[in-house]
Amino acid sequence: MKLLTVVNVALSVRRATLLQTKQDPGEHVRQYVARLRGLASVCQCSKMGVCTTATCSGTVTIDYTEDIVKLVLLNGLADEEIRKEVLGTTEIDTKTLNETVCLVDSKETAARAMVTDNLRVAASSYKKMGRGQPNQASPRNNTRLRRAGQDEMQDTLPMWISHSPVR
Ligand SMILES: [Zn+2]
Repeated sequence: MKLLTVVNVALSVRRATLLQTKQDPGEHVRQYVARLRGLASVCQCSKMGVCTTATCSGTVTIDYTEDIVKLVLLNGLADEEIRKEVLGTTEIDTKTLNETVCLVDSKETAARAMVTDNLRVAASSYKKMGRGQPNQASPRNNTRLRRAGQDEMQDTLPMWISHSPVR
């Protein structure tokens, strides 16, 4: 863990690190939020203030860790499509951090299922091409089959790529 060395660094540097932390491609949002919480725990995301209750003259601590982590999380989502969808969700502003994580999680799960479906389609079309094909098939036939297979792969690949962007 980097945490111990990070504590010796100026607060502003730790905060800057938190703000810059993006989700790694392929990283589950629950892992990502755990990383952010770890970073936020040494960022003093709270303030002391005077209690505004009429009968009270004490002080209160306002902790805004959840708001900061939610903001950084939304900003740093690796999948641009998921990020746009989540930011476009009605009442995203009033969702708690946990609710936001659940929302992202469901979208990531759906995206992964779509990738699996696409791979299954691609795999089964390869199987179909290979099955029952005689060894001494004419070269012309082979070329046509190969080209058909490539076209199918091209149909399925873009969606796959869009859900696992490489930076
Ligand atoms: Zn009070």
